[in-house]
Amino acid sequence: MLTVNAIAATSATDPLVRATVERRDVGPRDVLIEIRYAGICHSDIHTVRGEWGKVPYPLTVGHEIVGVVTEVGAEVTRHAVGDRVGVGCMVNSCRECENCKAGLEQYCTGGNVGTYASVDRDGTVTQGGYSTHVVVDQDFVLRVPEAIRYEAAAPLLCAGITTYSPLAHWNAGPGKKVAVVGMGGLGHMAVKIAAAMGAEVTVLSQTLGKKDDGLAFGAQHYYATSDESTFETLKNSFDLIINTVSAPIDMRAYLGLLRLDGTMVSVGAPPEPLPVPVFALFGQRRSFAGSSIGGIAETQEMLDFCAEHNVAPEVEVISADAVNEAYERVLKSDVRYRFVIDVDTLR
Ligand code: NAP
Ligand code: ZN
Ligand code: ZN
Repeated sequence: MLTVNAIAATSATDPLVRATVERRDVGPRDVLIEIRYAGICHSDIHTVRGEWGKVPYPLTVGHEIVGVVTEVGAEVTRHAVGDRVGVGCMVNSCRECENCKAGLEQYCTGGNVGTYASVDRDGTVTQGGYSTHVVVDQDFVLRVPEAIRYEAAAPLLCAGITTYSPLAHWNAGPGKKVAVVGMGGLGHMAVKIAAAMGAEVTVLSQTLGKKDDGLAFGAQHYYATSDESTFETLKNSFDLIINTVSAPIDMRAYLGLLRLDGTMVSVGAPPEPLPVPVFALFGQRRSFAGSSIGGIAETQEMLDFCAEHNVAPEVEVISADAVNEAYERVLKSDVRYRFVIDVDTLR
């Protein structure tokens, strides 16, 4: 067993503090990763504050992990010492259900093992990436292309794949009008990826404060949702809406922006229910859907796509001691556009 430095939450209300976590011995199919950077996802905040349910405190969160392989088990074939690698939101799944067999481990019918706050095969609670090292089964470790800087690679492991997967599934591309609601960590990646796929992208943000950024990320249009005329101007416009907002929104207003057969996909995960008025669906045979991260093969596809299309998250690198302040800024929508912890500051 390896004891490593980390940051942990000890309750829903206390600030995160420096701590240690135990990592299992490297098994035959495991990879030991020396973590370099860990992104801060809004899901980390929902989790540690107990907004999604009971939390096994003390808990180290973080599921946007990049680093270098420093040891591999005897049967490891996919990764070697020195490789640049990443780990996202899952570290295992049953591998036998039809979804796992189809490469959709995020929808494992037995439940995948989350990178943190999940019960692992050995009965221990998984601990996430705000730490110096992690041991992960080789099948859940991704290759990070050389073209992507380490710190910029981290947010791709959750924000990148969570937006790439629905954009790919609902065929964002040339001739498709895509709207992105909320331009934070996930939202800014949705804009960049949808634009790289060739779609016509519109940002729907609370204000026009980030308009120049949105246009620079590849959006053609940018509207403030605080302005009610936006919903009149854009009614029946979009083929696809990706909702990344971490709080409930007025579904009737947003569904009205879909054209015939359009789909609104929520990846935002507010703790409260999101009531869907069915009459807003009837109008133009609209659909409402949800989407969870992406499978391992699709995550690799996304990393390779981002390398090829020069798509990278905008990151603000912070020291480990600045995490609590970063959480407060995320909650105020004051993030440009993903905080990433320099894990060297934990060594
Ligand atoms: P984030 O960086 O905080 O971005 C959320 C954005 O939503 C904000 O930047 C803001 O954008 C907008 N927003 C926030 N509060 C709002 C409100 N009350 N009304 C309207 N708009 C508001 O968070 P994130 O890391 O991108 O995560 C977003 C959500 O996705 C979270 O709920 C997270 O848990 C969830 N998530 C889900 C998955 C999945 O697999 N489905 C994966 C990762 C994350 P503007 O300033 O532009 O308005
Ligand atoms: Zn996440
Ligand atoms: Zn499964």
